[in-house]
Amino acid sequence: MNTLGLYIHVPFCGKKCRYCDFYSVSYTSSNADAYTDAVLRNIEHYSDKTAVLDTVYFGGGTPSLLSAEQLSKFITHIKTYFELSDNAEITLEANPNTLTYEKLAKLREIGINRLSIGVQSMLDDELKLLGRTHTAERAVKSVYAAEKAGFGNISCDLMTALPNQTAEKLRLSIDRMAELPIQHISAYILKIEKGTPFDCNEIRNAVPTDDETAELYMTMTERLREKGFFQYEVSNFSKRGFESRHNCRYWKCLDYIGIGPSAHSCYKGKRFAAAPDIKAFIGSPVQQTEITDSSPCGFEEFSMLRLRLAEGLDLKDVEAHRSDIEKKIPPLIQAGYVKYNGEKVSLTEKGFLMSNSVIEYLIF
Ligand code: SF4
Repeated sequence: MNTLGLYIHVPFCGKKCRYCDFYSVSYTSSNADAYTDAVLRNIEHYSDKTAVLDTVYFGGGTPSLLSAEQLSKFITHIKTYFELSDNAEITLEANPNTLTYEKLAKLREIGINRLSIGVQSMLDDELKLLGRTHTAERAVKSVYAAEKAGFGNISCDLMTALPNQTAEKLRLSIDRMAELPIQHISAYILKIEKGTPFDCNEIRNAVPTDDETAELYMTMTERLREKGFFQYEVSNFSKRGFESRHNCRYWKCLDYIGIGPSAHSCYKGKRFAAAPDIKAFIGSPVQQTEITDSSPCGFEEFSMLRLRLAEGLDLKDVEAHRSDIEKKIPPLIQAGYVKYNGEKVSLTEKGFLMSNSVIEYLIF
């Protein structure tokens, strides 16, 4: 039986962070109730019992703003309308400020077994600058509360290339984060997005240059490796066996259904997306989607996504392009950007830093 993933976009945030351009709206309890009903209708609409649902991911926004009761309704409905695997990975993205031991215990009880906590930094000055509402101390407390509540699969987000960030500050943040009982770290380079409060000269003048960013990235990968987090994807690091199964679906071109305003899907040979519009989502019996790609996962996309993973691209999967790719490999090996074992080509740590250019050179 084929497998399937389900992504549910929860578009609520308590307060907008200064760097963020994700689709989200302010949380109100009436909005959240209407949104919950709409998600339930869509779960029913996309019902598929021909595949095993082995990952569910509540992303956002801030999904942990929903109550355990609302999330429980989703999971019960999912069990009714999908073949939810007994060992499915069920992830909830969470803001540290929304996590109390009592809530975490309920979340664990209803079946959520993985948390992705938006920590971003373990330094209060950086958190304040980012416009995050939590402190480092609050983040620490929420992780320990999650461990106490029975979560054995916890991820924290970490950001680098922040304004005025030095290698020392980054190392300190990583050291503090790595001491926590967590198994996974998603580490992102800050991008200044158009139209956000960070899109201004004050921030542009304070962020590291490209060369400094490259050095910070190398500092980050090295420190994370020293702390036992191996890099399995350009931006993702984990202890062995704790790779995000859901996110791996994206990089392996496996099917997933996305529900919620701005959610994307790759399902039954099509990519499609719902509009970033909560009113439309709540007001429609079933979410309206637009096809964004009617024949996804062709050679280029498949190869680009696979090369993001440390396991790399198996040339058996792209046999027709093998000789073209093989011709381009030697100079990349010499420059230290890729490894090749005769079957799989994969990026090195240095290659990950230049992933866009290296992948482009290999594939196009
Ligand atoms: S909590 Fe997350 S989704 Fe919401 S504004 Fe901040 S970064 Fe964006």
